[in-house]
Amino acid sequence: METTHNNIIDLSYTQLKELVSSLGEPAYRADQLLWWIYGKLATSFEEMTDLPQSLRQKLAEAASLSGLTSVDEKISADEQTRKVLFRLDDGRTIESSLMLYAATGSSRERRTVCVSTQVGCTMGCSFCATGQQGFERNLSPGEIIGQILYFMRLVGAEQKNNEEQAPARRPVTNVVFMGMGEPLANYEKVWQAVVTLNSKHGLGLGARQITISTVGLVPQIRRLAGESIHVELAISLHAANDALRNKLVPVNKKYPLSHLIPACRDYFKKTGRRPTFEYVLFQGVNDSVNQAHELAHLLERMNCQVNLIAGNPTACKEFTPSPMKMVLAFQKILSDSGISSTIRVSKGVDIEAGCGQLRSRWIANSSTP
Ligand code: SF4
Repeated sequence: METTHNNIIDLSYTQLKELVSSLGEPAYRADQLLWWIYGKLATSFEEMTDLPQSLRQKLAEAASLSGLTSVDEKISADEQTRKVLFRLDDGRTIESSLMLYAATGSSRERRTVCVSTQVGCTMGCSFCATGQQGFERNLSPGEIIGQILYFMRLVGAEQKNNEEQAPARRPVTNVVFMGMGEPLANYEKVWQAVVTLNSKHGLGLGARQITISTVGLVPQIRRLAGESIHVELAISLHAANDALRNKLVPVNKKYPLSHLIPACRDYFKKTGRRPTFEYVLFQGVNDSVNQAHELAHLLERMNCQVNLIAGNPTACKEFTPSPMKMVLAFQKILSDSGISSTIRVSKGVDIEAGCGQLRSRWIANSSTP
């Protein structure tokens, strides 16, 4: 079931101009509106003081500027990860996270929001809490962008409080579509959100600051390669042979590695963006020396990056994270084969930052008499 609410953030730039003109106003009013929404982070039409009062009133009658309601929030002990459970207008819930990364020698300080794109998920990955919750519906562009606006307001307010210590900076620097749901299974809505994120009329985020993560929907990867905005692509790989990947990521039965890997190679050829392969290491499942060689062989001579992730210990009881010595041994084999990789430390483990965990607990508690 699709959402039916009339949220102004759901509208594309063209649709917004049409709305403004249907209200008898010149098109430039649409630009003013967008400046208030994305530049000033307004939460009501009433705040838009350089719009005529009559227009503000007409807008309030024709549309809403509803934000998402936070119903639960957790902050990790190191204060670098904040996870929020949002209630949508129809009462359903989704999760998002804000992750803070300090500047390092090679990269700038980042404030990354991880957004959900669906309520639940149809993909059924065996290690994922969301995958076990079933699918309820797709999110609208406004619901996707609303998650980012929430964190922008939050960080913006904190920055304002600390203005004397540090000059104001962009509140959110990166967006990753890696939360609940398979983004490419909600293609149109996700793409409209990407266009708004990237647009100078929207958040003005560079294409390199936007990452779409997929379990490997091959036709949609090929479609993405043909879009005019070349976003970063991440593939949740987790196994380098079809037999194991069929178990961990069941959609592999439909789009096996022999189809997925060429689509990723072509993505690089068409966009110049190096795909990233996410590989969560689970002890005794996919972390052996042989499996590392298998992965190295699969990605041979491919311009790509591998993210090795030590599994989240609270994600699913039958999947135990690999010990760090196995992760390091795995990485060495990749490195000896000329494959670039990084070890990603799971952020926010202490606050159940794995996809769908906070929502699982909320659902369990809500149904407890
Ligand atoms: S890992 Fe992603 S695609 Fe797989 S079930 Fe979880 S949310 Fe869906």
